Formats: sequence, C-alpha cells, structure tokens
Amino acid sequence: MPSKPQTPFLATARRGRPQRFADVVAQEHITTVLQGALERGKVSHAYLFSGPRGVGKTSTARILAKALNCEQGVVREPCNECRSCRSITAGTHIDIIEIDAASNRGIDNIRDLREAVRIGPAMGRTKVYIIDEVHMMTPDAFNALLKTLEEPPEHAKFILATTEEHKVPETILSRCQRFHFRRIPVVAIINNLKKTYAGESRELDIPEAVFSYVARAARGSVRDAQSLMDQIIAFSEDRVTLEAVETLLGAVEFDTLLAYVERIHQGDLDGVLNLIDEISQRGRDLAQFVRDLIELYRHLMVAQYAKEPQRLIDLAPEQLKATVELSGRLETETILRALEVLFTAEGQLKSTVEDRLVVELASFKLAKLTESVTLRDLIARVEGWEAPGARAGTAPRPAAKAAAPRASSPSSNPSPANSSEAVASPAPVAPPSAPEEPRPVRIEMVDPKGSIPAPLWRQFLDQLHEHSPKIFSYLEGAQPLGLQNDRLTIAIPKVHGFQYQQLKGRKNTEKIQQALGEVFDKKLSVEWVLKEIELVSDADAPPEQGV
Ligand SMILES: [Zn+2]
Repeated sequence: MPSKPQTPFLATARRGRPQRFADVVAQEHITTVLQGALERGKVSHAYLFSGPRGVGKTSTARILAKALNCEQGVVREPCNECRSCRSITAGTHIDIIEIDAASNRGIDNIRDLREAVRIGPAMGRTKVYIIDEVHMMTPDAFNALLKTLEEPPEHAKFILATTEEHKVPETILSRCQRFHFRRIPVVAIINNLKKTYAGESRELDIPEAVFSYVARAARGSVRDAQSLMDQIIAFSEDRVTLEAVETLLGAVEFDTLLAYVERIHQGDLDGVLNLIDEISQRGRDLAQFVRDLIELYRHLMVAQYAKEPQRLIDLAPEQLKATVELSGRLETETILRALEVLFTAEGQLKSTVEDRLVVELASFKLAKLTESVTLRDLIARVEGWEAPGARAGTAPRPAAKAAAPRASSPSSNPSPANSSEAVASPAPVAPPSAPEEPRPVRIEMVDPKGSIPAPLWRQFLDQLHEHSPKIFSYLEGAQPLGLQNDRLTIAIPKVHGFQYQQLKGRKNTEKIQQALGEVFDKKLSVEWVLKEIELVSDADAPPEQGV
C-alpha cells in the first residue's frame, strides 16, 4: 500500500477549529464587529451567538476569550503562541469556563455560577464563561444566569451559544449583544477546502468535483466538510476519485441527480429505472438520494422566479448554471407536484425497508406528472374549450332521467372568444441542447372567468359515472362555477334540492373529491351552491357526437 501524505501538510494547513478571527469562515459580519470592540476596549459583558451547528459559534467564543487574555495585551487577533493562548487552545485555561447547558454537570455549574463569578481570574485578565446550548437550561438555571447577568462583575464576560435562539427567554436576550451566525455558503466551504487541502490536492490528484461534492454534503458546516475530507483521504490510497468519495459517503453526485430529473422529464422511464438500479447497485443510500432530489427541485423552483438565483441557491457556479438551464425547460406546476411526490416518498422511506420500491414508485409518479400535463394539454388543444357544464359528448349516458349533466344558461358560460385566450400557447422551440425532448406545454387550469376546462369536467363526470353512478345522477344539470385556491364551486339547479342535500353529505362529497383528485392530480375541496339553472330535456339535447 502506498504511503499517505501525513504531517508535511498538517504543519501548514489550518485544520479543525479556526484559531484566529481571520480563519472563521464566512462570518465576517460578526468577527469585524468583535475585533473593533477589542480595539476600542468596548467588549460587551454578554454575547449571544445563535445559528446552525458547526458554523463557528464556539470557535469564535474561544478566539474572543484568547484575544481578551493574550499576554500580548488585548488584541485584534490572539498570538496563539503565549502561555495563555496555548492553554485556551488546549482547553486547560483555568479562567475560561465552558459549560454545556444540556448536561447535568452543566446545570450544577450554572447553579454555582453566582458565587463562582465573584472570584477574580486566577491566571489571566478576564474570566470568560462560554455556555453552549444555552436554550437547554432549566428555569432554575435561567434564573441563576439572569441574576448574574443583571450585575456582572468587571472581570467576567459571558458568551452564550445556541442553535435555537427562540427558546431563550427574552429577559436573557435583552441583556446580551446578539450575533446571528449564518449557514456557510457552499462556495466558501469549497474555497476553504481547496486552501486547507492544497497539499493533498496535488499529491492525491483530487478532482475539483470532489470539493464541491463534499461542500454540498457538509450542509453549511466547515468542520463537517473537513472531517469528511479527512475520512476521504484516509480511505483513498494513491489518489482520490469521485467514485471512491460517493462510495464512502453513500450519496450520489450532482450530475447523477441532474441526469435523473432530465430522464424523468423526457418520460424516459427505462432510463430512470436503470439509473435507480445503478445507484442501488453501487450501494448508495436511496433515502439520501430522495432528500437530494428534494433539494434539487427546490433549487429548480427558485431558479424559475429568482432574479439573482446565485443569491438564493447555494451551489457551486457550474452546478448553478446547469440548474438554471434545466429549470427553464420545466413547468412550475410539474416542479411543485414533483416536490409533493418526493416529500411523500421521503416519509414512506422512514417506515419501510423497501427503499428501492418506494423510489421506483415515486419515479413512476414523477414521470406521469409530465405525461399528464402534456395529455391534458392535448385534450384541450384538440377539442378546444367547451363551455363548462356543456353537454358531454363522449360521456357515458346513464339510463332515464339521470342524463349527463348539462346546462344552457348562457350568462355562466364563457364566450368562445374569452375561453380561447386561456388555451395553451404553442410550445416554444426546444433549446438546442436537447432538441428531441418532448416538451410539456403549459395549460392553464383556470380560465379568466374562474371556470375549469370542459374536457376536465367531462373526465371528472366519466370517473363518477364509472365508480359512483348514483352520485353521478345527482349531478344532473350541475355546473362548475369556478376553481379558486383549490376550492371548486359547483352549482346545482334550484329545482334539485334533494340532490343538493345528498351531494352535501360527507360521504358523497368525499367520493366527489376523490374523483376530482384523479382528474386534477391534487386534492380539491368542493363548495355546493343552488342556482337557477335551466334544465334541458332529452328532446332538446343536441345530437351525440363522437361516440
Ligand atoms: Zn497570546
């Protein structure tokens, strides 16, 4: 086995926790304020550092403690060489008291705080109390802390850190200067990794893609990213490959995620199933795959609306470019529904061992989403927009009085001129990169008058006729009045008071919602209203067409 590069790089690279303000990644909005306070001798008695885990809260607290106690004097940057600095780095400085508020010992420590804090520093100039996960404290402990913060001795400073600021009582918050640490952007993590692992990068020929992959996997934490890199380097022999990294971390590479979405939206189910097989064969974690897809679809959605996507989408530049390009070829509605399908799959994955089946099923549903939008568009284009509630030419006809619902009230029907405005516009030319891709075409679900397209209404009636003929018969003469905020208003002829009461029943409404769900691919609620609707007798009915 070839020997791995060891100490030569560790000597120069800054691994692990940052030891100077300048090394804290992407929190300049905080470190510059703290350095200014140090220079002016205006360091507050109490700080609250909030923000996600692993973004530098505790590290910054320790650097501040060092700067206050450095033997060079109170400085902008600690020297990291004097006895005081070194013992803080080692965690042995007697005046720097770190308390984990989540532990039992931490609670005892806080109880003793009021007494202990009166005693001056033994070794340095300033006693610094760093209380981590402060939101976990008991009410008793909060009281003890509050009393101390109300009358802090000159020689003591408090730095409270929390991942959940909203759980810290207002009385405590109001006595602290507050800083919010932000999640570290992927680009900042990539830069940090490149700098930190410059030596290994040359020695082990680490591909650029590995850094962006690891940065993404670390989800905003430099510490996690570095520990992943350390594992990867320990795991690799003479060189680091993306393949090896994927194996180690069990997740798939960004390009694979993009390829999956491309295939879904090309309706290439065979390609999708093969991709899942490949991912599965390589031992990737399918639950992680689904979570990564959710993140990608979220990015696709944001990319469609954001004026400056780079501000809202945290990806490496080349990945951002590919994401924006792909989002331009997708329908917003498809993206939103894809997210729903994936969230459902994510939930199912928590309670089953059939990971692969869940992911395959979700993929079928995703592919169908694209297909159904296209199909619906086709229907609308071929048949044009009929007036809602118009006689359903192809609807199966129940016997006798339960004729297919129809109406002829002209005032409620959009004129052909109006409804034609709502018909989908012609498909734009496909981008040159994927000329053969069948492009789903946008179809407006709601016309300008708030009604729904006749073909969909007819499809809904067909559904009902097939599965619930009785309910179908109650709908004689019914008209869809409008669809707003997922609420469909259906008018029943005033003379059909009995049918109206039946339809309003919970069970019948549920069946109707189910049929609507099949047609609209989403859950709609229904509102029933009674309306003057002129019923057309069988004799007046226009001749059946296209049966
Ligand atoms: Zn020092």
